Amino acid sequence: MSEKRVRVRFAPSPTGPLHMGGVRTALYNYLFAKKHGGDFLIRIEDTDQGRFVPGAEDYILEALKWCGIEPNEGVGYGGPHAPYRQSERKPMYRAYAEELVSKGWAYYAFDTPEELDNIRKQAELAKMPNWQYNSISRNTMKNSLTLPADDVQARIANGDAYVVRFKMPRNEEVRFHDIIRGWVVFNTNELDDKVLFKSDGMPTYHLANIVDDHTMEITHVIRGEEWLPSAPLHVMMYRAFEWEAPEFAHLPLILKPDGNGKLSKRDGDRLGFPVFPLNWKDPHTGEQSSGYRERGYFPKAFVNMLLLLGWAPSNNQEIFTMQEMIDTFTIERIGKSGSKFDPEKTKWFNQQYLRATPNLELAEMIQPLLKEKGIEVSNEYAAGVCELMKERAVFIQDLLEGPYLFSAPSTYDADAVAKKWKKGESGALMNEWSNVLDGISEFTSANIEASFKEFITAKGLGMGAVMPLFRICLTGVLTGPASSEVAALIGKEETKKRIATCISVND
Ligand code: GLU
Repeated sequence: MSEKRVRVRFAPSPTGPLHMGGVRTALYNYLFAKKHGGDFLIRIEDTDQGRFVPGAEDYILEALKWCGIEPNEGVGYGGPHAPYRQSERKPMYRAYAEELVSKGWAYYAFDTPEELDNIRKQAELAKMPNWQYNSISRNTMKNSLTLPADDVQARIANGDAYVVRFKMPRNEEVRFHDIIRGWVVFNTNELDDKVLFKSDGMPTYHLANIVDDHTMEITHVIRGEEWLPSAPLHVMMYRAFEWEAPEFAHLPLILKPDGNGKLSKRDGDRLGFPVFPLNWKDPHTGEQSSGYRERGYFPKAFVNMLLLLGWAPSNNQEIFTMQEMIDTFTIERIGKSGSKFDPEKTKWFNQQYLRATPNLELAEMIQPLLKEKGIEVSNEYAAGVCELMKERAVFIQDLLEGPYLFSAPSTYDADAVAKKWKKGESGALMNEWSNVLDGISEFTSANIEASFKEFITAKGLGMGAVMPLFRICLTGVLTGPASSEVAALIGKEETKKRIATCISVND
């Protein structure tokens, strides 16, 4: 690794919401930068105006904030290389394209889109599909390599549309090192003469990406595997500019849960889980996609899950704080092959984080949800609810699954009553139990439970016969947290009231 200060970037194109794979790329970049005391910057690559989607940039920035993956430089953060939005850097790219032309590494091409289309069609008819503008075909095209110099000058002076293309050398074997994949070898004959600068005055992704990575002093390019095919061109461009290339690390794909192909943006909610961090509404089609935030995920759980989707620690630790992630992360432990996304494991992570969150913090989180339902309780009471419900909860919303913790049951589960309640008998028993409750001075779950045991033992009855009755009185159903805990939370007076009501309704 070089001695230079580590500088990495996340460089999304604002063409839609950020896919969870994009969040993972940002995370790995962030962790790597922090681990090495370097910089993590965000650059917006918006040179393709045709694919620009309003709202996407804000979405990306908000999603990173939600995840706690904060750049220390870039769009929305400023820094020594501002601006960080490529459309605002537009004036600087032309000179770099010209530099390559003057060095003989690029050329002007005047072929119109119609002419190129025609050639492609003819090639297809001649059973030679995938025609390319390359080191062979460029010799018969309209460009500054084939046209006389004065003709080229005249066309440019005349304002004719042209693009600048990279002049890929013929038949050279080139290799570069990828930290994850090892040596990647390619022959330049496999590559075409990519457009670097477009007729609309905008650079293409390739030119802007390389120029920006160089001028922003990026040391490591950590990005998705889908960019691996572009890397040979990028390596050649660094060579052409005579710039030192950054180190590359191409991350493996995130696969669908069944392992059949890449988990794509188009999967949306189709597979029963979100692929985006936040809700998204497509501004053109109005189509809505759900996000992990709105589904009730903790950002830390989501990020923790993403960490292990492609990277593995040397031990089998699964839960990591952000600091632990920073301390243990290494690019070398990123796998080469795709990782299957596991929606159930994602829920498991959320459950772990929920359980680890102090009740008072959970209480503050459920307060807005309670207000929506018109329920007003103190934070202490809400914390008591969380304590009872958190063992079974996966999401914050699950903490509200016990309506009986907020008000007396208004109905009683008919099956439960039919199965457990013996008319004329159960009422009397519950009445007696209610009187026993008077004698419990400190109304805690442990004391209630101890008295209950004493009560049924004295009566010669079994737990299974009496406990469900108490439960029905308190909650109206047979499932949920322990009755003694529910009773302790709602208090003695309310407990006795519920027993009385239940007897009057069911006995
Ligand atoms: N703009 C590219 C993207 O949308 C960036 C690829 C790269 O990191 O070089 O993913």
